[in-house]
Amino acid sequence: MRAFARPKVVVSKCLEFGACRYNGDRITDATVARLNDFVDFYPICPEIEIGLGTPREVIRLVVDGECSKLVQPKYNRDLTENMISFSNDFLQNLIEVDGFLLKSRSPTCGITDAKIYAKIDNSPVVRTGSGTFATQIQSIYPSKPMEDEGRLKNFILREHFFTHLFTVSDFRIVKQSMKISALMNFHAKNKYLFMACHQENMREMGRIVANHKNLSIQEVFDQYEDGLSRLFAKPLKITSHINVCEHVFGYFSKQLTTGEKQHFYTLLEQYREKKIPLSSVLVVLRSWCYRFENEYLLNQTYFEPYPEDLIAISDSGKGRALS
Ligand code: SF4
Repeated sequence: MRAFARPKVVVSKCLEFGACRYNGDRITDATVARLNDFVDFYPICPEIEIGLGTPREVIRLVVDGECSKLVQPKYNRDLTENMISFSNDFLQNLIEVDGFLLKSRSPTCGITDAKIYAKIDNSPVVRTGSGTFATQIQSIYPSKPMEDEGRLKNFILREHFFTHLFTVSDFRIVKQSMKISALMNFHAKNKYLFMACHQENMREMGRIVANHKNLSIQEVFDQYEDGLSRLFAKPLKITSHINVCEHVFGYFSKQLTTGEKQHFYTLLEQYREKKIPLSSVLVVLRSWCYRFENEYLLNQTYFEPYPEDLIAISDSGKGRALS
């Protein structure tokens, strides 16, 4: 079993940590509760921080051209400047965090699905978008892992978020060392994970580590970190996983029986057809790593990109077959 660095994650306080919703509620959330054993959470409620009490009158987003304003209809108050100012101050004075886990649909914390109304008083929803706090996070930390608890009910999105989060957290520790040897080791043990993300980017990152241009260590780490954020820009594809599984299979294929090979290709086909999860294929590959004592492969993060105990969280049903 791998040892994992503990990611530092800013979380909306109403998710498990505080009864700070507009109606005085606290939300129980299985993902946040489970993650609490593995990450250091930094809970924040921006609405409380700008002086709105609990309980409080409802606030909402209203259209402001291409952007939106944060308003409190009951008092005809515009809270936009206040919230932007708090958010920038908070985010710019933050310790180095690895990611953000926010409350969905909130006009403050929602990442993509906050309702935006036509006007401050009774009016229809014209579109959805980011809450005011979330918008500032996206602008200051565009490449950090960032999700909401609603989307994390989907297994694929959750797996992608966890993989990204635990990888950047591991990288943060490597970066603190500022040692090329530590970076080489990080790149080597992530080879197959990065190959599954984006093969060409993985190769480019290998060239950065090799440092043929004789860049300073700081430049090497900066360029590598840029590459890392590009790798995780999109969830991984089934075809990329199949490619990696075939690469790993290649280490053992000559030593396996015909029946074992057929079994592997049957599993791979079932995975391609979304009938079984990726983990069913990886269990077989990993057992061969042990059987043939392949330490290099056993060290690959691909087989355990985040703590196994986090896999057990129940799923919304959508996309379960993909991993
Ligand atoms: S969604 Fe954000 S602003 Fe609203 S109660 Fe939760 S933490 Fe506070």
